[in-house]
Amino acid sequence: MLVRIRACGLCGSDLNAWRGVPGIEYPMPAGAPGHETWGEVVGLGDHVSHPRVDETVTGLLWNGFAEFGVARAENLVVVPTAFRTAPVLGEPLACAMNVLRRSGLVAGGRLAIVGFGYLAALLVQLLPTGCDWVAISRRQDSRQLALRLGAQAAYGFDNVPSDAWDSFAVVIEAAGVQQALDYATWLVAYGGRLVIAGYHADGPRTVNMQSWNWKGIDVINAHERQPSVYVDALRNAFDQLGERPLDLTLLHTHSFDLDHVNEAFGLAESRPAGFVKALVHP
Ligand SMILES: [Zn+2]
Repeated sequence: MLVRIRACGLCGSDLNAWRGVPGIEYPMPAGAPGHETWGEVVGLGDHVSHPRVDETVTGLLWNGFAEFGVARAENLVVVPTAFRTAPVLGEPLACAMNVLRRSGLVAGGRLAIVGFGYLAALLVQLLPTGCDWVAISRRQDSRQLALRLGAQAAYGFDNVPSDAWDSFAVVIEAAGVQQALDYATWLVAYGGRLVIAGYHADGPRTVNMQSWNWKGIDVINAHERQPSVYVDALRNAFDQLGERPLDLTLLHTHSFDLDHVNEAFGLAESRPAGFVKALVHP
């Protein structure tokens, strides 16, 4: 399927390619590493009949920093009409839905989220009803965002109240840094579930095995590599949201055209106050 890209989000995981960490090979394929794509179908291969030309689609398409991208038809989802007013980035939405599924959270659950960026901000909009949650984040504007999205409380790493330790049945680590793993370990209750949603791709981490072991926790690595699971999660996310639109106005904070994609990367790296996500528009 040939897709005219209308927007592609810049993901924190894209930064390693821009930084040039060891293990990344260049040149990357055209349009990489853009994978948070949104666009419309402009052409179909032989034997492909769905979605139709002109449909708005999102999902798994890996060359999104480009005017056009090619994807397998089964990896894209037609965006429901209620969600077409502004770009909805399917890949991170599916990722948030997968994390939620792996967390085992049910209505009325209680959780802590360590690291509050784009993924966490999507995830809290998908929570089952009546969940109470707190956010722990280094950045003040992230804490404010969490409170606006319904957090009971939001703490910096240096002012988490001591009665929060060992008190959360579910803790979602969503920062991808060592410190967040450590805090998530401290916060999770005995017999609780520590869900690692952060992207820890820039090197090894140290975990407190003694604490994990003693507390008898379940540790879940919530990344998903199976395209079909992603696509199912994306459909489920749209179904679950129904007519209730996502609040993305607080999240899609910056826009760039494709010629200025380097500035978008620079901003995602420096993360100035108020920055959540940059969208690149060809
Ligand atoms: Zn991503």
